[in-house]
Amino acid sequence: MKKIAILGSTGSIGVQTLEIAREYKDDIEITALVAHSNIELLEQQIREFRPSLVSVYDEDKAKLLRDKVRDLPVRVETGMEGTIACATEASTDTVVTAMVGMIGILPTIEAIKAGKNIALANKETLVTAGHIIMPLCKEKNIELLPVDSEHSAIFQSLQGENRKSLQKILLTASGGPFRGFTKSSLEAVKAEDALKHPNWAMGKKITIDSATMINKALEVMEAAWLFDLELDQIEVLVHPQSIIHSMVEYVDGSVIAQLGLPDMRLPIQYALFYPDRMNMKLGERVDFARIKQLTFEEPDMDTFYGLKLGLKAGGLGGSMPTVFNAANEWTVARFIEGRIGFMDIPRLIEKAMDNHQIIPNPSLDEILNIEQKTYDFIEGIIESAN
Ligand code: NDP
Ligand code: MG
Repeated sequence: MKKIAILGSTGSIGVQTLEIAREYKDDIEITALVAHSNIELLEQQIREFRPSLVSVYDEDKAKLLRDKVRDLPVRVETGMEGTIACATEASTDTVVTAMVGMIGILPTIEAIKAGKNIALANKETLVTAGHIIMPLCKEKNIELLPVDSEHSAIFQSLQGENRKSLQKILLTASGGPFRGFTKSSLEAVKAEDALKHPNWAMGKKITIDSATMINKALEVMEAAWLFDLELDQIEVLVHPQSIIHSMVEYVDGSVIAQLGLPDMRLPIQYALFYPDRMNMKLGERVDFARIKQLTFEEPDMDTFYGLKLGLKAGGLGGSMPTVFNAANEWTVARFIEGRIGFMDIPRLIEKAMDNHQIIPNPSLDEILNIEQKTYDFIEGIIESAN
């Protein structure tokens, strides 16, 4: 029996993880669940999956939930302390980190310290704190299994191979809803346009990240940490059909890829059951005759220059990826609120990066401090413009 805790159970990845748990009832037990404030869905999840511990980040909502589930033997915690209690719950063996944003760093670190294996969806964690998390996993002998579809594809394409034979990684990107747009036509796009992804149904933040292609910059940095690679060993390749989820090229010229329909349940399931492959119970198998063609193109880094900025931040390293990521989180949220335009996202990120003095090996406190300073810096610019 796998004992699984989910941080962010009410989100896109969290819900799909529970769909798998539902299909594999005899193999998966849910030990703990965490949400921010969606207690309606969390209550349903508690009633179905019967975890012994849950946490709701919002304190008032936690109180309300405590009342609603009084008839059940479940403890309801709150705040970061509650999230960490769920991440370190004694009986759990794997923690699925599916919260969105840098808020995921601390609970992930605590889960690793407590000896839990990690099924990692939250990419912001590795982007900002990879230099802390990767050595910690090694020290604690923890398996960090990728959930992100590209990283799962790379991980699967590396199985059984000698890492010394690796030439490069081809990390695929759909190109998002604005593929082919010009810079000037992007100025006017609205959040509702950006929230329509052509292939994937995901949470709002990552959907906007896909529209700006900043998601790919985050994924390149994530891949560098996960697979111990230099950034120049990772090439972004636009593949609009999202069937090839990424590829590994070897020194002899062979390219090994992982393919599947764009459905996150496959990489989630692979991470939960690794190294076993379970029968597909959800979703569809690839029908190549129906797909007909797979196409590829280079990313347009001038138009989607958030991608270029992210690669630059990754190359500079130290605390710069934190500034890039925090600036992105803040601007994406403001774009969704309608306070700034789409192209203000890369513009403001660039300003924050220009304003930053790199700290080479930032501690967790420094990372969290830089995060807050970046939020404040950008908010200052937005306010002064209004
Ligand atoms: P969603 O926005 O759909 O869900 C986020 C989840 O995190 C929700 O359960 C939310 O709770 C919870 N949450 C947010 N803030 C807090 C907080 N402060 N404390 C506790 N819980 C919190 O996001 P996604 O599922 O799309 O993405 C999650 C992560 O996975 C992101 O890092 C994303 O980049 C990554 N990822 C997602 C993919 C996808 O297909 N969706 C693919 C690959 C990676 P509530 O519902 O109450 O707000
Ligand atoms: Mg991805």
